[in-house]
Formats: sequence, C-alpha cells, structure tokens
Amino acid sequence: MIPKSVLPRVLGSDLQVPLADGATATFANFDHAATTPCMAAVAEAVNDFLPWYGSTHGGAGTLSEMATARFEESRQAVRRFVGCRPDDYLVFTHSTTDALKLLAQAVPEDATVVVFDSEHHAVLLPWRNVHRLPIPTSVDAMLATLDQTLRAQRGTVLVAVSGVLNVTGELVPLEDVVAVCRRYGAQIVVDAAQLAAHRPIDIGALDVDYIAFSGHKMYAPFDIGVLAGRPDWLADAHPRLAGCGATIGVADGVTEINWATGESRHEAGAPNVVGAVALAAACRALEVAWNSLMPYESALLGRLRSGLVEIPEVVELSLFGPASDRLGMVAFVVDGLDSALLATALSLEHGIGVRHGSFCAQPLARHLLRGAGRSATATALRASLGLGINVAHVDRLLDAVRAISEIGP
Ligand code: PLP
Repeated sequence: MIPKSVLPRVLGSDLQVPLADGATATFANFDHAATTPCMAAVAEAVNDFLPWYGSTHGGAGTLSEMATARFEESRQAVRRFVGCRPDDYLVFTHSTTDALKLLAQAVPEDATVVVFDSEHHAVLLPWRNVHRLPIPTSVDAMLATLDQTLRAQRGTVLVAVSGVLNVTGELVPLEDVVAVCRRYGAQIVVDAAQLAAHRPIDIGALDVDYIAFSGHKMYAPFDIGVLAGRPDWLADAHPRLAGCGATIGVADGVTEINWATGESRHEAGAPNVVGAVALAAACRALEVAWNSLMPYESALLGRLRSGLVEIPEVVELSLFGPASDRLGMVAFVVDGLDSALLATALSLEHGIGVRHGSFCAQPLARHLLRGAGRSATATALRASLGLGINVAHVDRLLDAVRAISEIGP
C-alpha cells in the first residue's frame, strides 16, 4: 500500500468529534463523494492569492491586473487538467448542477437529450426535450439500449451520462458510450463530478463534447464548478446571466446589445477568482499525484469491500454486478437495520461519517433497494473514500459495522 505521507495532504484529518458517551474520537470522513476535505495545497494557493484580491477584467490597477492574470492562469490549468481542445470553452460555474443547467440552456431548442434513469438528478432533470431510457441492467444492456435509441433518433441529439454512478461508484464505460454516440452523430456530455478526483480525464483524447464537474468534490471549496467543451452551442446561447462581462456594448436606449463571445459570455458579474485559483491548485496537485493516488484508493476500496463482504448481514448494492469496476465508494444495506439509524450509530458511537438516503439519484437508489428486497421507503448507506481516509479509518468502519450488525435492531 502506498504510504499516506506521499499523497497530497488534506485539512481536517485530525478533527475530534464528540461521541454520545461523552468521549471524543478522531473523525473518520467517509463522505468524500458528497464533498471532499480541502487540500492543504488549495488552502496555500488561496492564502497566497488573498493579498492580491481584486476585481478582474478591465481594472488598470495592479490588483485588478494580478487578479485577472490569476483567474486566466487558473482557467488554463483547469483546461490542461481535463484535456481541452484549443477551441473548447471552459466556463467557470458554481457547480456541476449549474454547469449542466448552462448546457441545458445552450442546447438548441429542437435537440433531444438522451439520458438513463440511473443518473443523478443533476443529469436527469435539467433538459427541455428529454428522451429517458430505463435503468440498464448491465453495461452491455446499457450500450445496446443506447445504440437502438440513437439509431431511431433524428436531428440533433445530446447524450448526458455520468462517468461514475454516484450511488454505487460503478464506472460507466465512457469509451464505449462515446463510440455509440459517434456512430450516430450524437454529442455527449459527461458529468465528471464523481470522476474528477479519482481518475485523469482527457476530453480531447476521449472525444467527449462537454464535461461538467465541481470543485468541492475534488478538494477545492464550494461554489466553483466547470462546464468545458465545444464552442458551438455555448457561443450561440443566450448568456447565462445578463450583465457586466457578458456584453461588449449596449447602445443608448438599450436599442441594441452586443453580447460577448468566449467564456465571458457566460461569466457575467464579478467572477469567483478565489474559487478558480483554488480549483486550479487542486488540479495541479492531483495531476502530480495520480500515480500514487490511484493505487492507494483502489487498495482502500478493495479492503473496504472485502471486509464488508465478510459481514453476513451486509448486502452491497450494485447495478452492473459485484465484479464491475468501481471508484471511491460502496453502497450497502444491513439486514434488519434501518440505514438512517445505522448512520446515526456510526456517527454518535464511533465518530464515523457516512451518508444515508438515496443520494439525489432516487430512481436508481429505489431500483437497487428493491432488488435487495427492501421496502419502497428504505434508504441505503454510502461510504466514500479519498485523500481524507486511511487504512485505519477503513478498519474502524468495518469494526463498527460488524459490531452494530451483531447487536441488531
Ligand atoms: N452529478 C453527480 C454524479 C454527483 O454525484 C453530484 C453530487 O453529488 C452532482 C452531479 C451535483 O454536484 P453539485 O452539487 O456540486 O452541483
């Protein structure tokens, strides 16, 4: 196992939390899929930038020039991180949800968006003309359904798909999905919210048209996200926000508005420079860490999954089967135990944070829970990994789940 000391450091790894019996424990944060802790390198980059805090674009003062330079340098760093093609736009947004909403507004009105019901709500819900596909039962079924659907579609089509299922962590075979899209001339947007912190992405090499992801799921703070991809629809779309930065000129009497081209068309108002600097710092740190981070995380995930399998009451949830490729998380239920109660017990008795619920992917979560013989109102547990987790945390979680499962309801 790669030693933790060679990996990027995150803040908060020694947080002490109160337990129900009055003791304290070091918090074990198994909720990275919801939000990751902040990387030390990100905090340093933000601290370095804060004295140069100023409003971007158009100010003649040194602070404005510095802020503008750092904002645009950050854009370049994030472009490199996702392998943007020279013409691609990279628009800073608030989040993945916001990025997908921007794309939804930019998609031509007569276009159809094809999406599987297994998606996170951010991918499932924002589109105007949507063609929904049932939750697939296997990777092959997913590809076959997509092929059949795209063959029958006419006109402009966009396929919206997550790189990783956010409930189970299962990898979606993006190369194969892209190949099907290309066969029928469909465009593709990848929601990389659950991918970006775990695997390098290269949208140029992968031939993906658009990508969306969030800073707060890759060791940067909240309120910074990205939509990157082809300029065509974004250049033509009405600006996301009408205001300063999105315009080149406004005629007297507002008889004519000349909207900006390029990313600034969709970045009106004072941009989130601190967020961009933070995100770029996270991208740079991840780029140099991949070779150690990927084997580290897969060893942790392997240990967690094999430990859970040995607990007789635990049932792991998966869409594509137990052998499917996964990243960063495991979803499960425990026989005879309500997931919310188990999550509460893990928190109050053991200082362990997991997530319970349906993870903003309700159709998929309900489908998996039904498949595991649970009622329509049941919820699942999700333990997710990343740089804030080490082997001792995994063993603590396994011991705690084992102990609570043995006691029962
Ligand atoms: N897409 C996926 C696959 C996610 O897992 C999430 C968050 O859980 C989102 C989108 C939404 O991300 P955000 O809340 O940063 O917009």
